[in-house]
Amino acid sequence: MKNLFGISLLSLANTESKIKIMATIVHLSVNIQRILDNYRNKKINFIQDDNGKMLGDKVARVELKFLQSKGHKLISCSNDCIGFDPFGGGCPGHIINPENNTLLNSTL
Ligand SMILES: [Zn+2]
Repeated sequence: MKNLFGISLLSLANTESKIKIMATIVHLSVNIQRILDNYRNKKINFIQDDNGKMLGDKVARVELKFLQSKGHKLISCSNDCIGFDPFGGGCPGHIINPENNTLLNSTL
């Protein structure tokens, strides 16, 4: 059985029970200050709003500064990261259900 990433899930079997090794996923995140520092002389044109619309450079900078004013240090690279901690923890990690490749629960 393969998950979303083509990683084989191992099953160990003995006479009394089966043990499945669960696949996990951790979403990437980006440090807001690093974006602002690294794109000082370049356009920030890779950030989407909640509706999937790409933000222009000026709007993206205003949004990043607004998030920083709320104490956020990280932004998630995924829209479906449940339990994301923008204050520094990032993605809590998720277990993938091997039956249908969905997130089995929100945190490890
Ligand atoms: Zn996540």
